Amino acid sequence: MTLLDVEDLAVRYETRDGPLYSVNGVSFSIDDGVNYGLSGESASGKSTTAKAILGLLPDHAVIESGSVEFEGRDLLALTPSQRQDMLWEEIAFIPQTAIDALDPVMTVGGQIVQAIQTHRELSDANARRRARELFEAVGLDAERTDEYPHQFSAGMRQRVVIAMALALEPKLIVADEPTTGLDVIVQDKIIDNILQIQEETDSSLLLITHDMSVIAETCDEMSVMYGGTVMEQGRVENVLLNPANPYTMGLKNAFPALEDEDEDLVSVPGEPPNLEAEPTGCVFEPRCPFASEACATREPEVEALPYRNHSVACHNAEHGAWMRRDAEDAST
Ligand code: ATP
Ligand code: MG
Repeated sequence: MTLLDVEDLAVRYETRDGPLYSVNGVSFSIDDGVNYGLSGESASGKSTTAKAILGLLPDHAVIESGSVEFEGRDLLALTPSQRQDMLWEEIAFIPQTAIDALDPVMTVGGQIVQAIQTHRELSDANARRRARELFEAVGLDAERTDEYPHQFSAGMRQRVVIAMALALEPKLIVADEPTTGLDVIVQDKIIDNILQIQEETDSSLLLITHDMSVIAETCDEMSVMYGGTVMEQGRVENVLLNPANPYTMGLKNAFPALEDEDEDLVSVPGEPPNLEAEPTGCVFEPRCPFASEACATREPEVEALPYRNHSVACHNAEHGAWMRRDAEDAST
C-alpha cells in the first residue's frame, strides 16, 4: 500500500532578490515498509521537498502546485494543530541540524517525556522508562537522560533526536542528512540505529542524503534530484548500477570520491543550475554532454524505462546507457 504520495510538487521561495524556484514538479511515492532515498547534490531541493511534505516551510515559501497524501489524507490541507499531532504520531522528522530540534534549557529525557505525554496517556514513571529504553535503542547510556543538549557531542545529539523522533513509533521516518558532518564510524552506527528501530517498528523511511553509498546500503528505492527536479528514480540497484540519466551517470563516476573526506562530491563539470527562473527545458542541459536542442526548450517528463521500476527524465536516455557502457569498457 502507498503510504506517502507526492505528486508534481513545486515550491518557490520569495527572497529579497526575487523568486527562487527550488522545487519544480517532484513526484514520488513510498509504499509501506519501503526505505526510500532522496539524493542529489547541495541545493537540489531535498530539504525543501521534505519540509513541504511535513508542512514545515517558512512563511516566505509558496507551494505553487502539487499534492501530498499520507495514507490518502491530504497533508497540505491540514490545520496547524492537526499537523502537529500527525508529525509526532505518524510521521517523525529528524531534521538536518539536530540541534534545532532540541530545547537547550530542558534535559533531553524531559523533552522525550514531554513529547510522549503530549500524545499518549502515560504516567511520569512509564514515560521516563520509555525515554530510557529509547536511549538504549540508539546506543546511548540511559543514565544520560538527565543531561542537557550541550552536554552531548554532535553525534550523540543526533541520536537523542532520533530517540525523540521514534518515541511514538511513527509509520514514516523522515531523516534529513542524519549523518552529515559526523565521523564515519558514528555515521555507520546511526544508520544502523535508524534501520534497527525502523525494522522493529515496521515503519517506512524517507532518507535524504547526498551520500550515494548510504543510500546503496540502506534504501530499496530512490530518486535523484537536480535543480528541484527528479532526474531518475526507481529501485536503488537499477538507478545506481544502471543509471540512464547522464546526470546520475556523472554522479556515479564521482562515487569513489564519496569515500574521501572531500565534501565536494559531484565531479560533473559546470555550474549548479540557476533557480531564479522556472526551468524551460531540462535543468541539467547546460552541463549535459549529450544535450540536444529539445533539452533546452522542452522539460523532460519522468518516464518509465521498459523494464521494472526504473524511470528517467531525459530526452536522450539511451545516451546514458552508452556512456555507461563506454565507462565500463574503459575500466576493463
Ligand atoms: P543541501 O544538500 O545543501 O541540504 P538541499 O538539496 O536540501 O541542499 P534545499 O535546502 O532544499 O536543498 O535548497 C534548495 C534551494 O532553495 C537552494 O537554492 C537554497 O538556497 C534555497 N533555499 C532553501 N531554503 C531556503 C529559504 N529558507 N529561503 C530561501 N531560499 C532557500
Ligand atoms: Mg538539505
